[in-house]
Amino acid sequence: MAAYTWIDHTFDVVVVGAGGSGLRAALGCAQAGLKTACVTKVFPTRSHTVAAQGGISASLGNMGEDKWQWHMFDTVKGSDWLGDQDAIEYLTRNAPAAVYELEHWGVPFSRTEEGKIYQRAFGGMTRNYGEAPVQRTCAAADRTGHAMLHTMYGQSLRHSVDFFIEYFALDLIMENGVCRGVTAWKLDDGSLHRFRAQRVVLATGGYGRAYLSCTSAHTCTGDGGAMVLRAGLPLQDMEFVQFHPTGIFPAGCLITEGARGEGGYLTNSNGERFMERYAPTVKDLAPRDMVSRAMTLEIREGRGVGPNKDHINLHLDHLDPKVLHQRLPGISESAKIFAGVDVTRQPIPVLPTVHYNMGGIPTNYHGEVLTKANGDPDSIVPGLMAVGEAACVSVHGANRLGSNSLIDLVVFGRAVGLRCGEALKANASQADLPKTAGDDHLARFDRFRNANGGTPTARLRDKMQRTMQETCAVYRTGPVLEEGVQRMAQVWAEAPDVKITDRTMVWNTDLVETLEFDNLMAQAIVTVTGAANRTESRGAHAREDFPERDDEHWMKHTLAWLDMKSGQATIDYRPVHSYTMTNEIEPIPPKKRVY
Ligand SMILES: Cc1cc2nc3c(=O)[nH]c(=O)nc-3n(C[C@H](O)[C@H](O)[C@H](O)COP(=O)(O)OP(=O)(O)OC[C@H]3O[C@@H](n4cnc5c(N)ncnc54)[C@H](O)[C@@H]3O)c2cc1C
Repeated sequence: MAAYTWIDHTFDVVVVGAGGSGLRAALGCAQAGLKTACVTKVFPTRSHTVAAQGGISASLGNMGEDKWQWHMFDTVKGSDWLGDQDAIEYLTRNAPAAVYELEHWGVPFSRTEEGKIYQRAFGGMTRNYGEAPVQRTCAAADRTGHAMLHTMYGQSLRHSVDFFIEYFALDLIMENGVCRGVTAWKLDDGSLHRFRAQRVVLATGGYGRAYLSCTSAHTCTGDGGAMVLRAGLPLQDMEFVQFHPTGIFPAGCLITEGARGEGGYLTNSNGERFMERYAPTVKDLAPRDMVSRAMTLEIREGRGVGPNKDHINLHLDHLDPKVLHQRLPGISESAKIFAGVDVTRQPIPVLPTVHYNMGGIPTNYHGEVLTKANGDPDSIVPGLMAVGEAACVSVHGANRLGSNSLIDLVVFGRAVGLRCGEALKANASQADLPKTAGDDHLARFDRFRNANGGTPTARLRDKMQRTMQETCAVYRTGPVLEEGVQRMAQVWAEAPDVKITDRTMVWNTDLVETLEFDNLMAQAIVTVTGAANRTESRGAHAREDFPERDDEHWMKHTLAWLDMKSGQATIDYRPVHSYTMTNEIEPIPPKKRVY
């Protein structure tokens, strides 16, 4: 192996990731007086959060009566009762304060006539326990994530978070089951860094790029999740992958659910508003899993639109052009660029597209990472925290409601800051790292850097993405999922033959993409294995061979470990927290989901 040297750093807290969740967590730790680093592979304001369009949910009640208890009910029902109700209570109770905090920091929210924060309707968000849609989603036009990210980056600088920008985190430094730090490769000069910290917070986002067609950025490769698997820890509920109903056909870029929130609707080749048949009360504002399934069925039954009858139309052409200009300027532009459509006159061609990972690194509602050890399913991994899409708190359970991710980022980002503030002493002395800390990280890094096989990374990645798209999509069935498991095992077996052409250390994108592919592959395997294993239908996991939800056997979280030698996943379970956080609200008993 080539000689590498480390540059060492010590912090109280190191946050990996500068999206909405990472920035909020870093900001909170810095506010608590802790010496805080934020390590990020892209410039903070280029994190995928910047692309979030539609908005952030909170029961402010600016557009009619609303309460957090209704928001909690909707989130539990939306999750198909796989969400942890204590965490959902924490989320929905704290949501309004988190939005006001953003407002006070300077997020330029859209406004009502009276100057209050504007709120729009979103799927699954209802008034009075399912009676009718409610306007709960706060928005800055259709560029909400952009506004949040820029504001929070400014605030983080104000509070002296130490940024390490364009540093690619490699792996966690673990010692006897305790997380002691993290290693990273600085992309612009090739140096290697070891961060020692009292706590490491993974805020690395989702892994949408395991699929061929997704709405997420090319950087969404789930690096944190893969670090956790390599540390011998499990990921949770990875079989639950959200397809957003309205990706632009065929490019896959997102048209926000806010488009339907503002009155948009879907039609099939008969010009029929088919959602009226599937969800008579809320229609086009049903949760995403239901709308994606309805669209898939319409296409299968021959009622798709276009020459190949392979997509669906989304209409905004009946809306006032002024509303489109004011509330949905970004998607009007995307529709023009990616589908050549003028939304004031023509429908947008759309198709369900991979959008969000409900699964991730298991945590409690303080952001502390959990594993199952010595029979305790809620055993805390000392030194390690996770937040945002990388984490699974689990507030989204089997299906996330639109606008519930942005609120998850800031509520639990804040929780991480509070927890670190309580638990840690600023500048407390830390034991030396073991002499060999990071050696195994370097061995992996060096192996890829010098990989001299016959298969380019792009070819392996394409195989993985097609496998996932073809075998683990909106509708799933046993034999096809088994085929997916086999095909992913083949990708794993072929991966040692990877070929890298660039051997340099500076801006080696070939090597970055290979490390990212390796991270994606680990998560693709646990995703498809978990999907084959779960013999019921719940939320986004729709099995044609097991069409019913089975609470007796399956109201439990999947935990999946990956053996790094064999590429085989091992599965176990954790109970769902079907209890609330306080005794001020009763748990919501499971029911069939009807909208
Ligand atoms: C197009 C689109 C629109 C959306 N719209 C909405 C919406 O309107 N409302 C809503 O609630 N949700 C929405 N979502 C979902 C939501 O935006 C995301 O779930 C959320 O932004 C994820 O934030 P995050 O902080 O977890 O991670 P991200 O914003 O994805 O950031 C990840 C961070 O981790 C860093 N990172 C990753 N790997 C490494 C590594 N190896 N080393 C160093 N750094 C690393 C990156 O540099 C980045 O800073 C949308 C998602 C998409 C894709």
